Amino acid sequence: MNTILIASRGEIAVRIMRTCRRLGFSPVAVFSDADADAPHVRLADQAVRIGPPEAARSYLNIDAILDAAEQTGADAVHPGYGFLSEQSAFARRILDAGLTWIGPPPSAMEIMGNKTAARNSLADTSVPVVPGTSLSGLSDAACEEAAARLGYPVMIKAAAGGGGRGMRLVADAHQLLQALHAARSESARAFGSDELLLEKALVRPRHVEIQIFADRHGQVVYLGERDCSVQRRHQKVIEESPAPGVSDTLRQAMGQAAVAAARAVGYEGAGTVEFLLTDDGEFWFIEMNTRLQVEHPVTEMVTGFDLVEWQLRIADGAPLPVSQEQITLQGHAVEARLYAESPEQDFRPDTGRVLFWSSGADGAIRIDHALETGQEITPHYDAMLAKFIAHGDTRNDALRQIRRALNHTVVLGLRTNRTFLLDTLQHPVFQQGQATTEFIREHWNPTDSPPPLLTALAAAVFVCAPCQNISRELQGWSTRPSVLSFDPENRNRTITVQQTGQTLQISGPELQETVIVLSCSDHRLDFERSGVRSQAWFAFDRDGTAWIQYEKYSACFRNHLADPAGRRTDCRDGRVMAPMPGSVLSVHVSTGTPVDPGQPLLVLEAMKMEQTIEAPVAGTIADVCVEPGSQVTPGQLLIDITPGAS
Ligand code: ADP
Repeated sequence: MNTILIASRGEIAVRIMRTCRRLGFSPVAVFSDADADAPHVRLADQAVRIGPPEAARSYLNIDAILDAAEQTGADAVHPGYGFLSEQSAFARRILDAGLTWIGPPPSAMEIMGNKTAARNSLADTSVPVVPGTSLSGLSDAACEEAAARLGYPVMIKAAAGGGGRGMRLVADAHQLLQALHAARSESARAFGSDELLLEKALVRPRHVEIQIFADRHGQVVYLGERDCSVQRRHQKVIEESPAPGVSDTLRQAMGQAAVAAARAVGYEGAGTVEFLLTDDGEFWFIEMNTRLQVEHPVTEMVTGFDLVEWQLRIADGAPLPVSQEQITLQGHAVEARLYAESPEQDFRPDTGRVLFWSSGADGAIRIDHALETGQEITPHYDAMLAKFIAHGDTRNDALRQIRRALNHTVVLGLRTNRTFLLDTLQHPVFQQGQATTEFIREHWNPTDSPPPLLTALAAAVFVCAPCQNISRELQGWSTRPSVLSFDPENRNRTITVQQTGQTLQISGPELQETVIVLSCSDHRLDFERSGVRSQAWFAFDRDGTAWIQYEKYSACFRNHLADPAGRRTDCRDGRVMAPMPGSVLSVHVSTGTPVDPGQPLLVLEAMKMEQTIEAPVAGTIADVCVEPGSQVTPGQLLIDITPGAS
C-alpha cells in the first residue's frame, strides 16, 4: 500500500489525508464540480474530477472512482463515511480490481447493512437484540398483529436504512398503517428497498455505542463507548466518551457484546456496535455501522490512538497494535457538530455562501473541518460544517473548553446550530449527564428573539462599516431613522441611530442602547458599552444583508429603506415558496384541487432530508409551478393557491 484514494469529501477526507501524510502514504482526492476548489482537493497529492455536483453522479459513481484509482496509480481505497462507505458492492468492485479495501469484508457489510439480517446474525449469540420482527411480505393485517404482539409504542424502520431516514415512532394502533405506508415509500425512495422492520420502541433510552476493531488474525477489541443521545431526527449532534454514569462492569458487558457481534459476522477493521441503554441499566443492540463514524474523534482523544492509522495498518494485514488489557480511557472527550441548519425552524438545513469563518479554537481543542471563508454550502451534500472536539481531565473541563471554542467561533452568511449547541451544552439536564434520545424534544425550546443589543450592534455596523457592497442610502443611515427587517421573524422595526463622534445612541421599540464604536473593519466591531469593551462580528451579503454575531447570538438584518423592493421570500396570500433549495420528490395536488390549511402539497428533498410542504391557507390550487424532479431555489414559487373557503 502506497497511494490511497479517498472516496469522500469534506472534513473526513481532510482528516484521513492528515494520517496518510503522517505515515508517508500518498493521498489521492476525488471531487465533483462543486468541490473543484475544496480543501480536500488541495491537500491531496493528486486529485481527479469524478462528475457533476449531484452525489449520484460523482461521489456515488463507482465507475468514475475506479477510473480515478487507475489514473492515479492508487493501490488502496478509503471510503470515509457516508456515500459508498457502507455499500458492499463498492467494496467488492475495489477488491475485484485488485486494490486494497480499507474497510470490512463485503460479506460482513452486507449482513450489517440490512437491519433484519443484522438482527438474525446475532440470534445464536448472547448479544441482547431489541425485541422486534421483520415486516417483509406481511399484509397490513399481519403488520397490525405483529405490532400488537410487540406492544406499543413501536418503531418502524427501513431495513436498509441509515441516517434516521425511513423511521417512524408509532404511539398506538390508530397511527400504524399510515406510518407504515409513509415509511415504505420513504424507504423505497431513499434506499431503493421498501423492506421494513418493526421494533419495540424503548422509552427515553440513551444511545450508547461501542467502537470495535478487528484484525485479520482473529483478534477483536473494543475501545470504550460513546454516548450519542443528543439527537434530532434520530441523528446525532453531540457525542462524548466515556458515557456519563456507565460503570466499568457495564462497559465491559457492552464491550464484550460488541465484540461478539463483530465475531458473528467475521468482521475486520473499524466498526461501531450501537446499543440503546435503558434507565435500569439494560442495553439492547440496534445496529452495527461498518465504517469509521463521524464521532470517532472522541474515542481517539480518550484512548490516545489514531483510528485511521489503525484502519490503514489492519487493511495492510498488520495485527492490532494493542491487546484489550492495554486499552484504557483517559479523561473525558466531547464532540459537538456544527451544522448549517436552523434549529428554530425544526432544524431545517440551510445553504449559502460562508461570508466569514473563524474558528475559536485558540489551539485548545481539536476542530475537524474543511471550511473556508467564501465557500458555498450547497444542497448536494451533508450540512455538517465542522466538528468541535474537546478533551479534559474531567467532563466539566471538556465541556468548558468546547463552550468557549463555540462561543468564539464565527460563522456568518448562513444559519447554523451554534446557539443551539451552546444552549444544550449549558443545559442542566445535559450537564448532569442525564440526556436521553428525547432530550431535544423534552428540553429544548427555540431561543427567544436575540437580545436587543444584537439589533443595536447591527445598527452600529450599518452606520460604521466601511463601504462593502453597501449602497449610499445605507451609509447615510446615521442621520435619519431607518428600518431594519429582523430575521428570522421578519419584524420590521424602525431604529434611530444618533451619532456623536464615536458614540452611537440607538433607539427603537424596546431598544435604548449607547455604544462607543472603537473600530469597525475586517468583519470585526470593537465597541464599549457601560464601560466594558467587547467584540461583535459582521459580514455583508452581496444584496446588502448584514450578518451579525455577538457572543452566542447571531442573526441577519436587512435595511428595508435601502431595498424598497423588499425581496421577501416568505409565503403570503397562498403563494407557497420553497423554504430551502432542493429537489421536488412528489406533488400531491393539481390545478383546481381544493385545499385546507395544513394539507400536504408536495415533498421536497435537500441534504438527505425530506420536508412536506403544507398549504398555508384554505383555497383552491391556481397553479402548480413544479413537478417531481424539479430543482428549486429558496424563495422560488412552488404552488399558487387562490385563498378562500375550499
Ligand atoms: P439509523 O440506521 O437510521 O441511524 P438506528 O437504528 O441507528 O437508525 O437508530 C437511530 C436512532 O433512533 C437511535 O439512536 C435512537 O435514538 C432511535 N431509535 C432507534 N431504534 C429505537 C427503538 N427501538 N426505540 C427507541 N428509539 C430508537
